[in-house]
Parts: sequence; structure tokens; C-alpha cells
Amino acid sequence: MTPTLDEFAAEAQAFLDANAERAVRDEFTWGIGSDEITVYAEKSPAEEEAAVVAAKLWRAKMWEAGLGWITGPPEYGGRGLDPLYERVYLDLEAGYRVPSQTMFGSSLGVVAPTILAHGSDWLKEQYLARLHQGEVLACQLLSEPGAGSDLASLSTRATADGDQWVINGQKVWSSRAHFSDIGLLLARTDTDAPKHQGITAFIYPLDTPGTEVRPLRQMTGGAE
Ligand SMILES: Cc1cc2nc3c(=O)[nH]c(=O)nc-3n(C[C@H](O)[C@H](O)[C@H](O)COP(=O)(O)OP(=O)(O)OC[C@H]3O[C@@H](n4cnc5c(N)ncnc54)[C@H](O)[C@@H]3O)c2cc1C
Repeated sequence: MTPTLDEFAAEAQAFLDANAERAVRDEFTWGIGSDEITVYAEKSPAEEEAAVVAAKLWRAKMWEAGLGWITGPPEYGGRGLDPLYERVYLDLEAGYRVPSQTMFGSSLGVVAPTILAHGSDWLKEQYLARLHQGEVLACQLLSEPGAGSDLASLSTRATADGDQWVINGQKVWSSRAHFSDIGLLLARTDTDAPKHQGITAFIYPLDTPGTEVRPLRQMTGGAE
């Protein structure tokens, strides 16, 4: 039975009370606080690892409590509720100290919705629940050294070989690829087609043999 918004809010509040501390907001005062302004600051591998573990644990708890995919279709493990319920949850969660979920930006903001809208049944069953549980992390493998704003210039190729695809090329700026399990990859599958056509989207497991992930170091010290 669909809970009312009030019932759902009470359920979410109980979950948050049981699993997280309430956030205490520091009052803003000019001249007080950290001078740190670096965007994409470099984290040590240990700090990064700890952040990934904490974020995944939090998502697993949300999933266990039925809050991991509030708007998702029940056949793939979602709760099947209106986006308003998700808004209620997020508003409540903002009042608690929970591990940063930014690393799920590509996973849940781009890759999971794309699989849901365009993926095969196999892909949906294989990945949708695990992406929302935080068990699988996904990144976007779109940009290339010669294809940024003009993404249709991409030159990574995918060639059919029996019942497999062989993919050759280089992607760049692939945020969080170093701890992702899969990537949404665009590759050219028809080299005779005009450049805005003949491109196919793949879900690419990053442990595929022959894959090399290297950091792209920025002036700020951080890396993509
Ligand atoms: C921090 C960061 C994270 C990123 N994460 C990802 C990721 O996870 N996955 C991924 O695939 N990509 C990622 N990207 C890549 C991002 O999508 C590209 O940087 C973006 O598409 C722009 O491409 P470009 O950097 O090659 O710039 P260019 O396309 O070379 O553009 C350079 C400049 O020229 C301008 N320009 C380009 N074309 C035109 C035109 N026709 N007319 C007028 N002006 C134009 C642009 O506005 C820009 O100012 C990331 C980039 C950054 C900086």
C-alpha cells in the first residue's frame, strides 16, 4: 500500500534517527573558518578509499530500509513512489550528518537512468538494483582528447567480433573511473555513417582486459 507523505516522512525520520547524527549547522561569521577553497582537491588514496567505503555503506543501509531507490520501478527493486517522496527524504536527510554521496553522481544521475530508459532487460536486471545499493559504481566514458563539446568527433571504435565487441580508443576526464566498476561508453560502430550517427552506447566493465586508468592531474592538485 502506498504510504501517505506524512507516513513516509515518519518512516524516513525514524531511519535517519536510528542511523545518523543530526547535523549541527555552524553559524556563518565573516573571517571565521577554513581558507580552503580548492575544488577537486587531492585526497590521499586512504582518504579516498575511506570515503568510498562510507558512501557505499550508507547506500546499503538506505537500500535495506527501502529508501535506496524511492522512485524506481518495483520490478527492479525500487519503491515505485512519486518523486515528491524522494524530495521529502532528501529534505530530511539534509538535517543529518551522512557520508557524502557525490561519488554516485554519474552512477545514479546518468548511468542508471540511461539503463532504465534504453538498456536491455539483462542490463536492467544486472545493474539497476546494484547501482542503487552502491555495490556497483559507474562513471561516464564519453569525452576524448579530440572530442569534448563536439562529442560527435569521438573516434573510439567498437568492432563486432563473433558475439563480442572489441573496443579501441582513449577516453579523458572520466571522473571517478579509478574506483568505478562500469562506465557508460560511447563508441563508433559504423565508420561510414555521418559523424552524428553510427555511435553506440555500451556498458563497459572497467576490469575488461586491456583497460588502463590513469590520473589526469590538474593545477589544483586534484585528478580526474
Ligand atoms: C572536472 C571535469 C570533469 C569531467 N568529467 C567528465 C566525465 O566524467 N566524463 C566525460 O566523458 N567527460 C567529462 N568531462 C569532460 C567535459 O565533458 C568536457 O570538458 C566538455 O565536454 C568540454 O570539452 P573540452 O574540455 O574538450 O573543451 P572544448 O570542446 O575544446 O571547448 C573549449 C572551449 O571552446 C568553446 N567551444 C567549443 N566549441 C564551440 C563552438 N562550436 N562555438 C563556440 N565555442 C565553442 C567551449 O565552450 C570552451 O570554452 C569533465 C571535464 C571536467 C573539466
